[in-house]
Amino acid sequence: MLIKSFNTRQLISGDTLSIPYFSFTGKESGPSIYIQAGIHGQELMGYGVALCLIEHFKKSSPKGQITIVPKANPYGMNFKMAEATYGRFDPSTGSNWNRNYVNWIKDQSDFLEKYRSQPWDKIKSFLRQEALSNLEKLDNLPYANKLARQLQALAIQHDILLDLHCDGTSLPYAYCHEYALPYARGLDFEYYFTMSRYFKGSFDDATIFPFWSVFELMNLPIEQFDMMAFTLELGSKEYFNLKECQSFADRIIQFTNNPYERAQGNDRQTVCSQENFVDVYSSFAGMLYDFVPLGQWVGAGEPLCYLLRTDNKDCLLNERIMSVTYHKKCLPIARTIGSSVHEGMSILTCIT
Ligand SMILES: [Zn+2]
Repeated sequence: MLIKSFNTRQLISGDTLSIPYFSFTGKESGPSIYIQAGIHGQELMGYGVALCLIEHFKKSSPKGQITIVPKANPYGMNFKMAEATYGRFDPSTGSNWNRNYVNWIKDQSDFLEKYRSQPWDKIKSFLRQEALSNLEKLDNLPYANKLARQLQALAIQHDILLDLHCDGTSLPYAYCHEYALPYARGLDFEYYFTMSRYFKGSFDDATIFPFWSVFELMNLPIEQFDMMAFTLELGSKEYFNLKECQSFADRIIQFTNNPYERAQGNDRQTVCSQENFVDVYSSFAGMLYDFVPLGQWVGAGEPLCYLLRTDNKDCLLNERIMSVTYHKKCLPIARTIGSSVHEGMSILTCIT
């Protein structure tokens, strides 16, 4: 095992934050896998999962190579406001910590013109060199962009990327691109959300976007693309349970043994395309209560929870009670961690 770190941010107090990472190289050849946790500071489970993985690989070398970053955003995880962690957004700018990754390839056709006669493996390594020469330019950047580039520079040296997150009050689920669903199934989640492929600045898209876009320009079928990036939502934010971390880690270890095995779907797994994964927004301001259990189908127009309105009209208590519904049959996967909402805030996210 190699423990390395890089400095990421100097603080006003004079201290400097650093990001440690752990690399394991097995004797057998195998895949190269990168796992990071905690880009959103209040999503705590990933840290425990990363430590369980490190513990395992210390004793039992992986096939191939694995790099683990347990605390991808130390600034975000330190930022407490009273009891809560303000971890999703940069407190100085309001930007989502997971939307700053960069598309470092300017012109895929131009790039490919230089190397067209080369096989994919060679082209991939040229792409990695090109990436590093771009991502290592860190001068005059907002901090969130610097952090994203530092993580991306490490991540792009691997073929398989896992970004560990949590949602509101949530069941565990996984995001993957459509072509990678058969591989993602090996992680044994109950719920999968398949994403279309376009650049949107989040880690799972941005880090492999330049690779898949060149791969497709070479007229190679995407099913043969040997890189993949998954976002794993490991339950609820601001929640921690080490036993559950171990259980997620066990599944990830299983996956790392043979990540290119294409698994069939089974009855236990529900797959939903991202456009059918919808938010239900509040039509009124108020207090939320009596949610239906997550993971249970609810009929069109049936109550998902109730809302006690907080407007200033003089009325009976009963008249303040509204049911929150969706116009289609849906299955709630996650809900807001708070019990009070303004009009127009997301209350639930549901499969439809
Ligand atoms: Zn997150």
